Amino acid sequence: MHFKINEEQEAIRKMVRDFREKEIVPLAPAWDEEERFPKEILSKLDNLGLTNLSVPEKYGGPGVDFVSAAIIMEELAYGCAGVTLAAGNNTIALYPIIVGGTEEQKVKYLTAACDCAGGKLAALALYEAEAGTDLTRLATTARHSGGAYLLNGRKTFVTNAPYADFFIVFAKTGEEKGKDLSVLLVEKDTPGITIGAPVHKLGLRAAATADVVFENARIPVENLVGKEGSGYSLAAQTFELTRPLIAAMATGVAQAAMEQAAKYAGERVQFGRPIADFQAIRVMLAKMAAGIEASRLLTYQAVWLRDEAAAANSKAAMARFVATEAALKTTIDAIQIMGGYGYSREYPLEKFMRDAKMLQIIEEDTQAQQLYIAADLLKQ
Ligand SMILES: Cc1cc2nc3c(=O)[nH]c(=O)nc-3n(C[C@H](O)[C@H](O)[C@H](O)COP(=O)(O)OP(=O)(O)OC[C@H]3O[C@@H](n4cnc5c(N)ncnc54)[C@H](O)[C@@H]3O)c2cc1C
Repeated sequence: MHFKINEEQEAIRKMVRDFREKEIVPLAPAWDEEERFPKEILSKLDNLGLTNLSVPEKYGGPGVDFVSAAIIMEELAYGCAGVTLAAGNNTIALYPIIVGGTEEQKVKYLTAACDCAGGKLAALALYEAEAGTDLTRLATTARHSGGAYLLNGRKTFVTNAPYADFFIVFAKTGEEKGKDLSVLLVEKDTPGITIGAPVHKLGLRAAATADVVFENARIPVENLVGKEGSGYSLAAQTFELTRPLIAAMATGVAQAAMEQAAKYAGERVQFGRPIADFQAIRVMLAKMAAGIEASRLLTYQAVWLRDEAAAANSKAAMARFVATEAALKTTIDAIQIMGGYGYSREYPLEKFMRDAKMLQIIEEDTQAQQLYIAADLLKQ
């Protein structure tokens, strides 16, 4: 059993750290305050091969392994989870095309997304107001009409919707339970598409989120991804990728919070000694460090299993569950260690806490992960 990151993965980690310290950490508070996605950062990330992480080299992607992808997401999220979500969104949104698309779709859409001179942004349009954890309640429909699909419905909370060039839309194409969901590629300029106003959020504010409405949008039949009825399977395969990558982001946020708290505890003097001398503070720091280590190991195990093409499902759910719980607890305790300063907006701790909370909710929340883990356990 090897616990060592290889040289190439270490080099990637160092490159991302250098980039983030220069290009993300100093600007993250302003992006959060302005609720602004700094689109200008995309081409810099593209040029370093830090976006479209799931796309194979054949289509212009960086072709990195999943362990490297997790390292990249962790190190970027240390700087700003919001910008990591927005810039990393293609990695997830393109995945249904990667696993289910035709060669023509891959060449057209993946290659366009990976163009370093201005890659196209994809957005995953899955959830709806009445259909969150329970995807059987999805109400968006795509009905055959004169050689095309007629798409109608409203998707909620779509990351990057205001900037997206195309959408990966999950819609009902039939009535048979379990076989009624399909995936369509929808270009943003298709008549009948409206993007809602950006949603104001507690955290991840550097990532824009908005509703997308489809009213009799005509989608060519060749834009169907996979077979009709393969929507649940494509969603499940996408979640398998999302779980460890969100776990990696949570680990990065927690690491940043712990480092700030530890530094502060070493410098802050009360009762004639640095507060780091007090056992109550040490216990909090120890729990943070142990939680982060557990998160990182579970995450690396889950992505390593993916790289080995082994089943990683409940391990990935464990990684996401543990890492997002640890991140929220770490950020809350880090604020506690920093007292009033931790709560003030002068320090990034309150932003870390707001971002960490959202990582428990986005795309299959922490309860869903636990249900998944339990179901897998009981099956055995
Ligand atoms: C910042 C942000 C970005 C997002 N990005 C995207 C995106 O790009 N594309 C997209 O399609 N969607 C996106 N979403 C939507 C997101 O994935 C959903 O909000 C999320 O999956 C949860 O669904 P819901 O909000 O409807 O909650 P619900 O499913 O209504 O859940 C509400 C509560 O009930 C609990 N619950 C539900 N079912 C069960 C059960 N069986 N047992 C126990 N508890 C249960 C849940 O755990 C939760 O605590 C985004 C959301 C946000 C806020």
